[in-house]
Amino acid sequence: MKITLLGTGSSMADKNRAQMSILFEHKGEFNLLDIGSGALRRLMELEIDFKKIKRIFFTHFHVDHSSDFATLVQTMWLEDFSDTLEIYGPQNITQWYDAVFNGVYPYLKDKIKIKVNPLQLGDAIKFNGITVKTIKNKHGDTPSLAYLISFDDKRVLYSGDTVPTNEIIEAATGIDLLIHELAFPDSLKEKSTVHTVTSQMAEILEKANPKSVILVHIYPMWFAEQEHELETLQKHYSGNIIIGTDKQIINL
Ligand SMILES: [Zn+2]
Ligand SMILES: [Zn+2]
Repeated sequence: MKITLLGTGSSMADKNRAQMSILFEHKGEFNLLDIGSGALRRLMELEIDFKKIKRIFFTHFHVDHSSDFATLVQTMWLEDFSDTLEIYGPQNITQWYDAVFNGVYPYLKDKIKIKVNPLQLGDAIKFNGITVKTIKNKHGDTPSLAYLISFDDKRVLYSGDTVPTNEIIEAATGIDLLIHELAFPDSLKEKSTVHTVTSQMAEILEKANPKSVILVHIYPMWFAEQEHELETLQKHYSGNIIIGTDKQIINL
């Protein structure tokens, strides 16, 4: 499987980072995890044909994880996309979809074929040698999901936006790759109620001990304290720590 980080940014504007979006490619099929602002442009920069995208798995519907969806649909329509785009997400995907096409952009409705698939905890979607299983995360009161991707004997987990959860730690134990949000440095712990801070990330890594971790969704305030924060992580985890950057490719 080839995993490409399209966007690794947070909900704050960042000149070097698009917002969250991850492409995973297996046996010639292209699928996305989230599609925040700038994702489509990254696909173009990488010369990836966006018409090959089969499925999008949304962790939740905050702007920084979903705002390029309408852009993609409009572009697919103008470029005569004739396949069916499958979209998956937490239960409120139906309400969100209705709001996008009946509320905000009615001119885009039914321009391409889209199948909407609301997911519950424990659901497992199987296609093309891959299983994508929903995992419990916790992002305040926002309906949201993490995703565990399994293929051959490999496992990859994408946390979405979340505070630490036991379910993520359990599902990430010993896996090949954990892609986890790390929003803020410990100095902002008090203010961080719906995201993960460094010491919490260290605990997740210590308990789950994945082979590698890619940190994403990092706010500029974390980078301001990067050196110190990385030391904290390394005290608790001896595996491979990667600070995700846009257009980074990981082959598994
Ligand atoms: Zn969010
Ligand atoms: Zn976010």
